[in-house]
Amino acid sequence: MYSKIFKIQKTGLSIIGLLIIVNLTSCKEDSNSQDIAPQVATVEKEIDRYEFGFKLNDFIVVRDTIKKGDSFGEILERNKIGYPKIFQIAEKAKDSFDIRRLQVGKPYTLLLSKDSIQLPECFIYQPNKIDYSVIDFQDSIHAYNRRKPITYVEKEVSGVITSSISVALDDQGVSAVLTNKLADDIYAWTIDFNRLQVGDRFKVIYTDKYIDDSIYAGVDKVKAAFFEHKKEPFYAFEFKTDSIKGIIDYFNEDAKNLRRAFLKAPVQFSRVSSRYNLRRRIAYYGNKIRPHKGTDFAARVGTPILATANGTVIKASYTRSNGNYVKIRHNSTYSTQYLHMQKRKSKVGEFVKQGDIIGWVGMTGNTAGPHVCYRFWKNGRQVDPFKQKLPEAEPISKQLKLSYLEYIKSIRSQLDNIQFLEDEFLANQEDEFQSKLN
Ligand SMILES: [Zn+2]
Repeated sequence: MYSKIFKIQKTGLSIIGLLIIVNLTSCKEDSNSQDIAPQVATVEKEIDRYEFGFKLNDFIVVRDTIKKGDSFGEILERNKIGYPKIFQIAEKAKDSFDIRRLQVGKPYTLLLSKDSIQLPECFIYQPNKIDYSVIDFQDSIHAYNRRKPITYVEKEVSGVITSSISVALDDQGVSAVLTNKLADDIYAWTIDFNRLQVGDRFKVIYTDKYIDDSIYAGVDKVKAAFFEHKKEPFYAFEFKTDSIKGIIDYFNEDAKNLRRAFLKAPVQFSRVSSRYNLRRRIAYYGNKIRPHKGTDFAARVGTPILATANGTVIKASYTRSNGNYVKIRHNSTYSTQYLHMQKRKSKVGEFVKQGDIIGWVGMTGNTAGPHVCYRFWKNGRQVDPFKQKLPEAEPISKQLKLSYLEYIKSIRSQLDNIQFLEDEFLANQEDEFQSKLN
């Protein structure tokens, strides 16, 4: 949803990425420009292809997916293997591969002998993109499970928010997942991505994941980011604060946690339909002041409602105006309340963590449309959560702070060295100007 407003400049393209692009363009040329293409003599040489630990050139490779009604036995039988042999294979393989586990729609590969009989010698099943099971019956029967190698490629990207905002992020080959990570994970509390300014700019160091060096498997993680919003710099560095629990957070250049103890909204992908407003006038009530002490987030009926912070449920009930609602006490200062639920999930006394589902959006009680009315209590008074300086989530420990500051030194200079397109342009002009003078 944010991707439309980015103009992206990408650096540090991996060789893999380049190869893919080259392949795509050459395909296009083949089909479109046959008339004008000059005759080129090509020498075709078969290259060695490896997959699943086999040299594929040595076999006839048959790829298919498990169809409804397929079984291991039928697949082999169709390929000229008799039932005594099939039973023998299934029996020998069963410790590492249960042939009943085959799922409709999953890919499998048969390696057939490269002779006139073309008998299957190997069956490979892929329950997902990474794992695969091999039953090898070339001579003796053995079965094993393996994982395809995963490689991580570090990339850098920078971009400037422009007024002519039409270039989508994904058009540039950068996954929209990356934008969402920036908007919803890393900068959710510091920058409102719905109110970005023209001229805001950013740089990101992130890693992409590839299976078998060639299949793109998405963004793995964002290592560091820099965002300039209204000329203010915002640094973010990923850092693991607890290797046992695997707790990872983003901190700024002074080791302050960017995450806050409270989520910004109790529902994802929602919009604020009515803000906290003590002087709200409603025509329905003859334009009298009817203060709205909550913030309304409109979302579809059934959308999960999330606890915005850790706490204990102190109310889970129904009233005529609130409908189904839940109230959570976070500490002696803060409580939050969620109204008009279709259904409650949490019970009084339950401890909930930030992001846990406590109910679903509905329109019970006094409401005209599906939304959650979010009420934010501070010291027993309802306040506007958007006007609060929310407490930092988990502050970094004193001990860790020093190693953190040491750790980010080189990453920060890497970030600082990434150029923006306009900077590069100006630098080139400067160079040209200088060379003309000389
Ligand atoms: Zn409300």
